[in-house]
Amino acid sequence: MPDPVGIFGGTFDPVHFGHLRLAEESMAHLGLGGVRWIPAGNPPHRGQPQVTAEQRLAMVQRSTASNPRFSVDPGEVLSAAPSYTVDTLRRLRAEYGPAQPLVLLVGADAFAGLSTWHCWQEIFTLAHVAISHRPGFPVEPASLPAILAAAFSSRRTDDVGELGRKPAGCIVSFAMTQLAISATQIRKLLANDLSARYLLPDEVLDYIRTHFLYRNP
Ligand code: ATP
Repeated sequence: MPDPVGIFGGTFDPVHFGHLRLAEESMAHLGLGGVRWIPAGNPPHRGQPQVTAEQRLAMVQRSTASNPRFSVDPGEVLSAAPSYTVDTLRRLRAEYGPAQPLVLLVGADAFAGLSTWHCWQEIFTLAHVAISHRPGFPVEPASLPAILAAAFSSRRTDDVGELGRKPAGCIVSFAMTQLAISATQIRKLLANDLSARYLLPDEVLDYIRTHFLYRNP
């Protein structure tokens, strides 16, 4: 079996060190060969991002370029369709074939909303799901909607080796370094002309400055 591939979607408005540590630490915790970053083009579950999909893609490309185990997939950004994770996973499953283990990486807050995602149950037929701990968002069935708690309890495993033995279907959680960083916090700082330095990579801050992003109108 080839090493599992991590699939990391998000709005990345903008990308920050919480995202980068999640992707980096997931490789060691879960035995991934690499992580494929997939910025959402037109995320249906939330308000419009503050900057364009191309700008969010450019920031992800800049922040990941020096890591040979990271790749960036522009598929959702280039598509006019709503960015449904299930559609992206169907595309990746067709690309990688039926045997390749795929691991969808989500933070605990994103996982708690999973049962509202389009065709969410199909996601488990296409990929494993790995939940990273995030400050303020407990990973426990009691804090999930009942239907998701049931899926969590039946699919959950503590044996990360299972991710490499099956192509899809398990749920694991992993404790990454806890970083209470959010894109919302960064957007607020920048809109108020306050420093966001050390919350995100300098090359992303340079891009934000050069393109006058996240400023108050
Ligand atoms: P926003 O504040 O705009 O909601 P965000 O910081 O949550 O943004 P997203 O692009 O929405 O960033 O997140 C992409 C993925 O990364 C999600 O699965 C989210 O749970 C996860 N994530 C984001 N920040 C962290 C963090 N600090 N720790 C762990 N996971 C995170």
